Amino acid sequence: MVQLMKIKDYFRSFLLWELLKGLRLTGRYLFRRKITVQYPEEKTPQSPRFRGLHALRRYPNGEERCIACKLCEAVCPAVAITIESEQRDDGTRRTTLYDIDLAKCIFCGFCEESCPVDSIVETRIYEYHGEQRSDLLMTKQRLLEVGDMAEEQIARDRATEALYR
Ligand code: SF4
Ligand code: SF4
Repeated sequence: MVQLMKIKDYFRSFLLWELLKGLRLTGRYLFRRKITVQYPEEKTPQSPRFRGLHALRRYPNGEERCIACKLCEAVCPAVAITIESEQRDDGTRRTTLYDIDLAKCIFCGFCEESCPVDSIVETRIYEYHGEQRSDLLMTKQRLLEVGDMAEEQIARDRATEALYR
């Protein structure tokens, strides 16, 4: 029996059987509709829950949402968030430092899930890069700028997301 299998294998390799099998599969897909996306000219659809670049949001009156509760910092499994805070004259608490180290972040989304005021969010932005490590340190200022720029899309996505929550 083993001998017979060996002879079969020998003839198969001799007749390029595996290669023909592969070519048959290639031929089957040759004339099917192509699904390759010509990025960056073409882009695939994104979910409203896409987890891209982080942003800090503001209320419509310009006040930052974050109340420095530090839940996001506590829940972050990658220890990527660093927060320092102080009490303001009006008795409310706000952050004096809010950093996210994107070199550590694993884009799990726990920070945005934990935020009680929808302040820290992950946007649909994924086209960014850093040439040195400091480029990937998102400071509070940079996070607020991303939030200001993408607020319209973020608000739309959050409204859609209510369906999932
Ligand atoms: S997405 Fe996850 S890993 Fe990244 S900062 Fe938020 S909690 Fe941390
Ligand atoms: S972003 Fe949200 S969870 Fe994080 S400290 Fe601010 S209010 Fe708390």
